[in-house]
Amino acid sequence: EMFYEGKAKKLYSTSDPDLLITYFKDDATAFDGTKRDTIADKGVVNNRMSELFFKLLEKNGVKTHFVRRLNDREMLCKRLHIIPVETVVRNLVAGSMAKRLGREEGEPLPHPIVEYYYKSDALHDPLILGEHAIAFGWATAAELKQIDAMALKVDGILSKFLDERGVILIDFKLEFGRYHGEVLLGDEICPDTCRFWDKATRQKLDKDRFRHDLGGVEEAYHEMLRRVEN
Ligand code: UDP
Repeated sequence: EMFYEGKAKKLYSTSDPDLLITYFKDDATAFDGTKRDTIADKGVVNNRMSELFFKLLEKNGVKTHFVRRLNDREMLCKRLHIIPVETVVRNLVAGSMAKRLGREEGEPLPHPIVEYYYKSDALHDPLILGEHAIAFGWATAAELKQIDAMALKVDGILSKFLDERGVILIDFKLEFGRYHGEVLLGDEICPDTCRFWDKATRQKLDKDRFRHDLGGVEEAYHEMLRRVEN
């Protein structure tokens, strides 16, 4: 039974209350839902790429909600109580950070920066401090400490893996949730939620091609999947 439909995914309950099925759609939105379209086969690419990344992370000691991929568009996952904080890790300046702080896209950062955004469509996901998350009960101090450590560990693992495949991991967004007293990594890891640049050409291989009408959107998603699969 479907119990949630978001912009890019649908969630179905299963006979086991601890498990759910994520269905990956082709729908794409940007700029707070004002830009909408579909990207052919995006759901298939994001499902497969998330599977590969989750397996790589699990192998390296990061606990995730991933159980197994069921088919082209569906993934079996542990059912988390999602913490309403989006965690963004940045290695180079891009996107909202470039805009907010008046910096050039592609400027390297001396070390990865972790940011939090409050998950609220009504408030347009505002940038927050960890203090806000603690004060308003969205996460505990202990959970944020774990989230920080996990986010930086994910950054290290994925940056190295992608570098070996000729890709710079510019930035990415993670979501975490509670599962029987543990904090697990949830959601998806794919070109919708990461910025990937080709190392040699600095060509964008992610959702920025859709956001800014750069063309070659489907091709970029498939090219990224090809690199991650090899
Ligand atoms: N991101 C995301 N979902 C969001 C906002 C951001 O997956 O709702 C990802 C985005 O793809 C990028 C990183 O988080 O890889 C940082 O995004 P940024 O804050 O620059 O926002 P944007 O300009 O992409 O809206």
